[in-house]
Amino acid sequence: MNFYKRMSEQAGLLLKQNILLVSHTEENTELLGPYRRFVIWVHGCCFDCEGCLAENTKNGAYTEMSVAELAERILSCDVEGITISGGEPFLQAEALSELIVKIRRVRDTGVIIYSGFTQEELQENTACRKLLNMTDILIDGRYIKELDDGRAYIGSSNQRLHYLSERYKTVGQEYYAAPKRRAEIKFTKDKVTLIGVPSGRVLDIWKKVKEKSGGIISDF
Ligand code: SF4
Repeated sequence: MNFYKRMSEQAGLLLKQNILLVSHTEENTELLGPYRRFVIWVHGCCFDCEGCLAENTKNGAYTEMSVAELAERILSCDVEGITISGGEPFLQAEALSELIVKIRRVRDTGVIIYSGFTQEELQENTACRKLLNMTDILIDGRYIKELDDGRAYIGSSNQRLHYLSERYKTVGQEYYAAPKRRAEIKFTKDKVTLIGVPSGRVLDIWKKVKEKSGGIISDF
């Protein structure tokens, strides 16, 4: 059984060609990488990290979006790049590679990916290597609650930040050396969203907001 079938079956995903399973998107934030970014939280993950802050990307609602539709939405936004998180982005490596090719045909766009796989694990698979080759920054590794050291933009100390191109090497030094975490709780008409890697204080507020909502509010 190949990698995709194995890992996506483990995550309960039914993947289709040119279709992305998307839990949530955010059109303009600076909380998940330098400059203004379009953020995609893909649906589905094959891991089970204790303390995962993205449970809803695994068990919650999601939308099937065509690569073309999502590319069009991204290109309609005034952003420097995209950040892909989840869930586990590399379970949808083929469709994400197609997305990046489509966007970059029109506009030079930076790509940052958060993955639960390590870079070494990703190098073992052809489709993952292809997506890695299009990635400017990779933040890799499972989230380990006991190793959560409060570092800005990164969940736990085992996770590594890899500059895979020159694109963010200079601006990234300052951005990722920020002294504390930044995250926001965003209220819109029909949902409440937690964006960014939260500090313990923001996380407590977020938990209280969810408790008080009696289950109406969820992460996405
Ligand atoms: S890899 Fe990320 S989304 Fe998946 S279980 Fe771990 S923390 Fe959650």
